[in-house]
Amino acid sequence: MNKGILVVISGFSGAGKGTIMKELVKRYDYHLSISATTRKARTGEVHGKDYYFHTREEFQQMIEQSELIEWAEYVGNYYGTPKKYVQQQLDAGRDVLLEIEMQGGMQVKEKFPDALLIFISPPSAKILKERLAGRGTESPQEIEKRLLRAVEEVQYMKDYDYIVVNDNLEEAVEKVNNLITYDHYKSCNSVLLIDKMASELSGFATKGV
Ligand code: ADP
Ligand code: 5GP
Repeated sequence: MNKGILVVISGFSGAGKGTIMKELVKRYDYHLSISATTRKARTGEVHGKDYYFHTREEFQQMIEQSELIEWAEYVGNYYGTPKKYVQQQLDAGRDVLLEIEMQGGMQVKEKFPDALLIFISPPSAKILKERLAGRGTESPQEIEKRLLRAVEEVQYMKDYDYIVVNDNLEEAVEKVNNLITYDHYKSCNSVLLIDKMASELSGFATKGV
């Protein structure tokens, strides 16, 4: 068994991250981290399934008690990744997906240098706007704030390991899955195999071939 891979998936609001993540979890053995947030639940969102919904005071406490791997403020609300679940899954050799915005992505990159960072981009700004409006979950004012935030977020695209364009959903899901699959072959994610081979081969030197 090898280490689990920590996968960061980021992208502008409305790019299709959530849709891709749902498909990945449905089809493959990935474990999705549930974030904490101070934003209000959208219709149909469930505490403990979509997010852990908290007050600002509760969120502040989580920060102070070092319960979060990373956190950031996004369009007026706090979002953060609880540490415990991620650590447990990685220790058990499972791949963990974090769907987080870019400031958080950069914090993860610094703390977990072996993490795999994937940026989901829409094919164009026009399509992004259409998708965000088409989702029907935010007011026109909120949509404007998110699109203006995307103007700032574009600077982080180059800091990601890979960029996947979400044009055809099916293709985008498989591209992300392939990137994670290939990442397992990187030597940094094969430390247990390296240790095993070193130990077995050293037997040749001590006990003879
Ligand atoms: P994000 O999580 O990045 O904010 P969502 O996954 O909520 O974005 O997707 C935004 C909207 O775009 C949703 O209504 C979703 O159904 C739609 N969508 C996602 N991917 C595609 C795609 N490849 N083609 C067309 N519509 C898409
Ligand atoms: P939404 O309100 O649309 O669910 O999420 C808004 C933004 O917050 C998205 O870009 C989403 O990826 C990001 N986000 C969700 N959870 C986290 C988290 O735990 N940490 C950070 N930094 N961003 C998050």
